[in-house]
Amino acid sequence: MRIGEGFDLHALVPDRPLVIGGVNIPHDKGLLGHSDADVLIHALIDALLGACGLGDIGQHFPDTDPKWHDVDSKLLLNKVYAMICRAGYEVVNIDSTIIAEQPKLSPHIPEMRRILAALVGAEVNQINIKAKTSERLGAVGREECVVATVTVLLSTAT
Ligand code: MG
Repeated sequence: MRIGEGFDLHALVPDRPLVIGGVNIPHDKGLLGHSDADVLIHALIDALLGACGLGDIGQHFPDTDPKWHDVDSKLLLNKVYAMICRAGYEVVNIDSTIIAEQPKLSPHIPEMRRILAALVGAEVNQINIKAKTSERLGAVGREECVVATVTVLLSTAT
């Protein structure tokens, strides 16, 4: 068994699409980043890489590389899942938290779970996603950014 944790944060700005957990969410602001800035998938990627001792997202997909400009983070997760498989591991479960003041994310969680499960060779019941606000406090509470944290457990593939 191997455990990994991941954290990510992206600024919430006008004139950007809001993509979290692979889902396009209607909102008047979106996340700023070199890629599509999918904060949940980035935290998940770091958790998966961490569990395998494979470093972090920035080492594998540097934000200085034009190849990753506006890239769909699902593609990055797909590549990281292939690394996990090559290392001989499979996902036991994933637990995660997204912290955002706005918009309300709970209606989108079932679709996020389906998307992530399909991308990491798991069933939906192995993927948990929790959404909370920051009680109007701090940068998240002022709707300046969105944060995500992810914990994953991997086991040797059967
Ligand atoms: Mg990121």
